[in-house]
Amino acid sequence: MLPFKLVYHPEYDLNLGPHVFPSQKFRLIREQLLRDGIAEADDFLMPSEASDTDLLRVHTAEWVGKLRKGTLTASEIMKLEVPYSPELAKAVWLAAGGSILAGQCALRDGFGCNLGGGFHHAFASHGEGFCAIHDVAVAIRRLQADGAIRKAIVVDTDVHHGNGTAHIFRDDDSVFTISIHQLNNYPAHKPSSNVDLDMADRVEDGEYLETLLPVVAQSLEKVRPEIVFYVGGADPYCEDQLGGLMLTKKGLKERDKRVFEEARTRGIPVATTLAGGYARRVEDTVRIHVNTVVAAREVTEESGQPPAASGR
Ligand SMILES: [Zn+2]
Repeated sequence: MLPFKLVYHPEYDLNLGPHVFPSQKFRLIREQLLRDGIAEADDFLMPSEASDTDLLRVHTAEWVGKLRKGTLTASEIMKLEVPYSPELAKAVWLAAGGSILAGQCALRDGFGCNLGGGFHHAFASHGEGFCAIHDVAVAIRRLQADGAIRKAIVVDTDVHHGNGTAHIFRDDDSVFTISIHQLNNYPAHKPSSNVDLDMADRVEDGEYLETLLPVVAQSLEKVRPEIVFYVGGADPYCEDQLGGLMLTKKGLKERDKRVFEEARTRGIPVATTLAGGYARRVEDTVRIHVNTVVAAREVTEESGQPPAASGR
């Protein structure tokens, strides 16, 4: 039994068929966690769809309506880079509900892991790069609306810049955004996060970790958020088809673990989401995402008490 909850829904699958986005990975991650004995059936919670009220704290009514009714224009679908289907719409509503639930679990248990979401390229009024609804932004706004948190930090480790996150929170002092990404990669235009860590092509584990970890530590000290949302990208992996960094599976797990340790030692809960992962072998992507859960478990076990009582 894990000391925190995993949030998953069978309809997270974006129903894409043959596509560079392995939308079956959500199911494969769950199966791998069970097969390895890392998780049991009781560790999983099933989210419900986020409400339209939740979505409208982040997105425009026009965009939510288009996704709801399937009335996207051809150019909007081209920008989204995935075919529209009612199943896709349902999946992103569920992903947003899942990130809300993971955030709520994190505040209670110290960690909460959404085995979906991390759709960081979604903007308020349009979708981009496989991302239609910004689940992490929806979750943060919901937790704020509930009075559960005031301030949040988003640590985005996807190999692609978190452009939607940066844009949505650009004028919001209550949400501090950190993105570590490959500079020479999608998206072409990168609106400023609070901290953007631009990695050169083919950066390896050591340089990546030496760049990221001090920034995370300093930002947690400075901002003192009530929660960290960790967007766990599998695509800085050296064999990723859409990435150009050279991180190993070991390095990626160390990244997750050390970010979690920085939060844990300060008593700050962490909600994790997935993000991109396009390894040539889907089992590598699955393993990297599974390792995020393992890292959270190790940090929990090594640190003893849950942070909720001591941190606030
Ligand atoms: Zn990515």
